[in-house]
Amino acid sequence: MRIVLLGAPGSGKGTQASRLKKQLEVPHISTGDLLRAAVAAGSPLGRKAKAVMDAGQLVSDDIMLGMLEERLTQPDARNGFILDGYPRNLAQVEALDALLTRLHQPLDVVVKLNVPGEEIVGRCEIRFKAEGRADDNPEVVRKRLQVYAEQTAPVADWYQRHDMLRAVDGVGSLDEVFQRILDVLPGDRLAANG
Ligand code: AMP
Repeated sequence: MRIVLLGAPGSGKGTQASRLKKQLEVPHISTGDLLRAAVAAGSPLGRKAKAVMDAGQLVSDDIMLGMLEERLTQPDARNGFILDGYPRNLAQVEALDALLTRLHQPLDVVVKLNVPGEEIVGRCEIRFKAEGRADDNPEVVRKRLQVYAEQTAPVADWYQRHDMLRAVDGVGSLDEVFQRILDVLPGDRLAANG
């Protein structure tokens, strides 16, 4: 099963992706996590990305595509993946489409977690206190939400037009939201995953 998870920062993509990973036995590929690992490793790419991430802006499409291709071509992604944090703008939609076509691995479904803005701000505040992610501070969260509205919302519209988008209410307990996600996954692919 090849899934893209969409949703604003703090909508629960990461949490739900970890659960889906166990259920479907495919890797959870988070471009935010890949970038944070590069920052922690102090690589040249990480140093370049850090300032952009701390400002709540998007890292360049070229860097992201290189990083994504490297990850998607690893053996564990051959049977599927849950992609979280990519694509984030329309150029990345096209890049992903071209890459997956080249790899003969078309997407099965795009799941979008819907969470209202007020709740998002509250969740990011809680995560800021718990994890101390610099980009979860309220000022940067506002910027990330603005970037999301301007650049990432059109991504959902694109998948909607291509009849690939399944929107899910992201408010509720972790179990409730997880069940809603399972309910919109293509049944034939679920069966194929056992
Ligand atoms: P996330 O953990 O998905 O919220 O990502 C954290 C930050 O990493 C974002 O605010 C961006 O600065 C950067 N980032 C993650 N994924 C992407 C992407 N696909 N394109 C550009 N920047 C990204």
